Amino acid sequence: MPLRFFNTLTRQVEDFMPREAGKVRLYTCGPTVYNFAHIGNFRAYIFEDLLQRHLEYRGLKVDRVMNLTDVDDKTIRGCRACGMALADFTAPFKKAFFEDLDTLRIKRADHFPEATAPEHITRMIGMISTLIEKGHAYRAEDGSVYFRIRSFADYGKLAHFNPEELRDGVRVRNDEYEKENVGDFALWKAWDEADGDVGWESPWGRGRPGWHIECSAMATGILGPELDIHCGGEDNIFPHHEAEIAQSECVTGKKFVRLWMHCRHLQVEGSKMAKSAGNFFTLRDLMEKGWSGREVRYALISVKYREPLNFTFEGLAAARSALQRLDEWTTRLQELPKGASGENLMETGDAFGEALDDDLNISAALAVIFDMIRTTNRRMDEGTLTPGEAISLLKWVKGVNAVLGFEAEAGAVPAVVGELLARRAEARAAKEWKLSDTIRDEILATGWIVKDTKEGQKLTPAPRGGA
Ligand SMILES: [Zn+2]
Repeated sequence: MPLRFFNTLTRQVEDFMPREAGKVRLYTCGPTVYNFAHIGNFRAYIFEDLLQRHLEYRGLKVDRVMNLTDVDDKTIRGCRACGMALADFTAPFKKAFFEDLDTLRIKRADHFPEATAPEHITRMIGMISTLIEKGHAYRAEDGSVYFRIRSFADYGKLAHFNPEELRDGVRVRNDEYEKENVGDFALWKAWDEADGDVGWESPWGRGRPGWHIECSAMATGILGPELDIHCGGEDNIFPHHEAEIAQSECVTGKKFVRLWMHCRHLQVEGSKMAKSAGNFFTLRDLMEKGWSGREVRYALISVKYREPLNFTFEGLAAARSALQRLDEWTTRLQELPKGASGENLMETGDAFGEALDDDLNISAALAVIFDMIRTTNRRMDEGTLTPGEAISLLKWVKGVNAVLGFEAEAGAVPAVVGELLARRAEARAAKEWKLSDTIRDEILATGWIVKDTKEGQKLTPAPRGGA
């Protein structure tokens, strides 16, 4: 079965083939580094991670760019409020972003260009100059440069709206700028006092690039004029991605992107995430409440990217128990007594991969995994699963984890718990039951439940409830 994805541009599920055989050029809009990213941002980044890992699982080589927006209204406002230089203000948020990617097991992109890097600023200025030369852009009185949307007949094709609404020819004036048309968007913003010491020299005077041209310049600069896939959150469709198409295609004359993929919004506890509503969470907030990156990853990945996801603490608890089932099953397979290994291998099939081929149908893919766990657990209960079959299953789950990243953390049990377990084992060997119970309670206080089984003590994370 071919890979099939929903294309925002055509509003259809289409077969996917990269332009160059075996190689996918992928651009994903990255964070604006004025704060810690929130879990809504991470839903999009985890969807993109799933996409990349699945393409690689299918043998494609992915060349991926994720930009860092380190100059825009928000970053400038932030650095001015703190009285810091722009680069000093954004540096800790860049660092935090990479830490969060690791916590959530998101694969690093091949390139993380920063908008303020001199080579990218130069490219942005170059693209704007070309747009002016070709009549697609104009300089306003204050030194800002705008894209002339009526010069690009395809404007509106991604967001599927009629650009006539924006082409009303009204001249808009205010204190700061002058545009020919209300829909025209800024390519270059002339410096004003609110910008402080942030600004670059350009043929149109001192100023800074608009957000949209940043992505067009970094995408085409690194990946070339024709991308295979461009992703983002659905709120990026308009105006950001619509503007990227207009700018890039008017400069290069080529079709900028073949496949546009967008992730739906995240809701939290049934409503829009907002600081004022008390349902706004960064990854760090959830870690402080005792949830692991792997659990948050599971919760965010487990609903298909095109469907609304309502993020709840019950959902996180369900993620925790699903992962626990997967871990217990994997451990059970690993511990199956080794007999005539290599015999009676199992045909595990490709249902998992085929589910994801179908527009990343994660619900179907997870169903394949838990069906496999159910049927083979039953056979282990009966004692009929052969060591050869266990080997096949372990190999299969390794492939699954290459895509989903659900593998148990090596050494996730803290050292102190390991020591307590050893002491408790000694106590039990000496039949000191009271001491054994005391140590059990000490282990519980660290967040782990110890159970005594035929094979010895077994640890599971203690449920730590919701918010
Ligand atoms: Zn972007």
